[in-house]
Amino acid sequence: MREAETPDTLCDRCGAACEWAGCHMCDGEGEREFDIGNGVIESYECDMCDGDGGEWRCTATARYCRDNPLPGREGASQGHSGEYGR
Ligand SMILES: [Zn+2]
Ligand SMILES: [Zn+2]
Repeated sequence: MREAETPDTLCDRCGAACEWAGCHMCDGEGEREFDIGNGVIESYECDMCDGDGGEWRCTATARYCRDNPLPGREGASQGHSGEYGR
C-alpha cells in the first residue's frame, strides 16, 4: 500500500492540507485594472489578496484548526502564508 501523497502546502496552525482558493476580486490575477478615463487603464495590486491571486486555505474545520494548533504554532493563523515553510 502506498502512503498517501504528502500535500505540498500545509496549514501554518494545525498542519492540515491547504487548498488554493483563487481571489474573487481579481480572478486570481493578483492585480486589478481600473479605467481612469480617456481610455487609460491603470492596474494596481489587488488589495484582497495582496497581489498573490488567492490564498491557501486550511481544509480542516475552523474549529479543529483553532483548537488543535501544532506545538509552537498557537499564534499562527489558519491557512498557509509561507512564513513557516511548508
Ligand atoms: Zn488549519
Ligand atoms: Zn486578488
